[in-house]
Amino acid sequence: MKTLLIDRPSVIHDPPHVLESIVHGHPIPPKHFKLDIDHDGIAWLVFDSPKSSANVWNEETLREFNHNLELLEHDTRVKALVLRSAKDRIFVAGADLKAIRSMPYARVNDLIWLGQAVFDRLARLRMPKIAAIHGACMGGGFEVTLACDWRIASDHESTKIGLPETQLGILPAWGGSTRLPRLVGVRKALDLITAGKLLNASAAKHAGLVSHVVAPEHLETLARRLAREKRPVTRFHVENLFAPVIRHFAGKKALAKTRGLYPSITKAIEVVTHAVRGEIDDGLLLERNAVAELIQNRDTTRLIDLFFKREEANKRPAAVGTAIPIHDAVVVGAGVMGAGIAHTLASRGVRVLMTDVTNDSLARGLERIHGLVSDATRRRLVSKVQGRDTLDRINTTHTPVPLNRHHLIIEAATESMELKKKIFADLAARVSADTILATNTSALSVAELAKYVPHPERVIGLHFFNPVHRMPLVEIITLPETAPDVLATAVSFVQKLGKTPVVVKDSPGFLVNRILVPYLMEAVRLHESGVPVKDIDDAMLEFGMPMGPMRLLDEIGLDVAMHVAKTLAEAFPDRFPRSEALDKLVAAGHLGKKSGQGFYRYEKGREIPPEVHNDLPRHESIGTKLALLLSQEAMRCLKEGIARNADDIDLAMVLGTGYPPFRGGPITFARDTGIIDY
Ligand code: NAD
Repeated sequence: MKTLLIDRPSVIHDPPHVLESIVHGHPIPPKHFKLDIDHDGIAWLVFDSPKSSANVWNEETLREFNHNLELLEHDTRVKALVLRSAKDRIFVAGADLKAIRSMPYARVNDLIWLGQAVFDRLARLRMPKIAAIHGACMGGGFEVTLACDWRIASDHESTKIGLPETQLGILPAWGGSTRLPRLVGVRKALDLITAGKLLNASAAKHAGLVSHVVAPEHLETLARRLAREKRPVTRFHVENLFAPVIRHFAGKKALAKTRGLYPSITKAIEVVTHAVRGEIDDGLLLERNAVAELIQNRDTTRLIDLFFKREEANKRPAAVGTAIPIHDAVVVGAGVMGAGIAHTLASRGVRVLMTDVTNDSLARGLERIHGLVSDATRRRLVSKVQGRDTLDRINTTHTPVPLNRHHLIIEAATESMELKKKIFADLAARVSADTILATNTSALSVAELAKYVPHPERVIGLHFFNPVHRMPLVEIITLPETAPDVLATAVSFVQKLGKTPVVVKDSPGFLVNRILVPYLMEAVRLHESGVPVKDIDDAMLEFGMPMGPMRLLDEIGLDVAMHVAKTLAEAFPDRFPRSEALDKLVAAGHLGKKSGQGFYRYEKGREIPPEVHNDLPRHESIGTKLALLLSQEAMRCLKEGIARNADDIDLAMVLGTGYPPFRGGPITFARDTGIIDY
């Protein structure tokens, strides 16, 4: 039976069964927490789950935490509480989603009550409470700190703070939606919660999430000092009086952006703007009601499953081989991709030698990298020191230098087989026998390139997506002869860059472009048959794609799209017909956004669709038809073994194309809707 805990009075006055046991709990032997009370009367409560690199909230940890609070309530020696984690890179990673995913609905509801009650007990503890944050502090991990008086953070790169729940189809329901708007004001809270943003320490301080940022080794001294100070009074935010107005505008904006496809965002706006008024208990009730509803949504389950798939791909080593750590690399080509790759590598601590044919091209590449660094610094994604370190790690040369001390070369030169063959043959003469030669080609055969080097087993594809600093996916293209340690090194290297690797076979279009091309070409064909450009794009926006296929073609560049489509048409002539419309546009110099004209016209930063001269009724079935094509090609790739399994294909499409995550990916979509026999 579903125990719908909604519409009950607040936690404190009417606890369900699960809460009775914690209010008058039995002693719990220490397992996840260590409590020390020092001679100054400061209680140091340290979260350190055994046999795990992470701390998470589940029934067991919440109960033990609650037990510690009970001890503190009765200990007259204690003057202040400092909450810390003993983990290297994690404060508290949030709720134990794995456990939640397999729980019956009624238990999830009980857990929500439990978390709210325990954090509320913390908030009511009559002493200064300081959360000393070092490492990831996300979701429930941040919500516990919101029940404290002070939040201070270490400036370590692992410190990331935020409430990402809406990205998983739910919302912060352990007090986060209620307490955050009180702390930083309703607008900032909405911004953080609806985007599910995770901020580094400096950005978190700027946003008001933490009061101080110090080096990790100074966290304890600062906590000790604050423990002696008076508890701070939370600043009143006048804007919170206008929460209904903010709700109205935020709701409208969110609806325009998400087309109502993400109920967690709409609900979060409702809850945050209501919860900021009245008592905390009223807000907690709203949080519970909302999450109880969202958790039952199938889209939420798909979002959580996708999150696990990505976590796994980010950690899983290659099935075979031993990875060699890569500390420096050569990037050949300083164009859009080469500069992007060099920047990403350097920002993750890899020393880079970037090469190109002329000094001018190198200068343009460096300018691009400077732009990326100053943008990241301005947006507080990195500190000035980190930005400078990134730039310091990049060297350039346009003369052929010996490369025998480098273990990895990534070729990102102009897309031409003739040119790349020459580059590979030349590189092979300058590198050592165990150097890995990787290409970033979008569509050329990696096997063909491998013919031009003496060690084809050391050739691999590393297909980054554009823009490199934003796109989380890297396709790793393997050949039958690829050496196991080359694959293992490539997988671990991509993970070190903070990207998600998906291993695929060398085959025309690899995985993502292969699935995308029939969809894009069908969109062009529909347009040729008279369907207006905007109708096609709107249909796919309604489906949940971040951009319609016609706009996407313009963005990619029609010449580039034509080239990829041609490669696929040659490989699969029966299924990938050539598009005359595309050929004609390219011949007329209409290359898409970069030339100012493609399917749309681009003027002063706006895209203008062509005028429509007919009155055709809107094609309701366009979205389904195009989505079906994505699923069909994805299924073909699965059957042909282009990727290892359906999960990898779904993940690659979500991360590489923005396929709507709440649909789980094209194969999950096919399976869940039954549009194709699975
Ligand atoms: P680009 O035209 O911006 O840059 C290519 C660079 O290669 C130029 O700076 C050029 O001077 C340099 N170059 C040419 N010959 C060279 C040589 N012999 N040695 C060193 N450098 C040389 O192209 P791009 O968009 O950066 O694409 C580079 C590669 O990445 C291509 O293989 C492309 O298919 C692939 N790719 C591109 C995208 C994209 O969206 N642009 C996405 C994924 C992959």
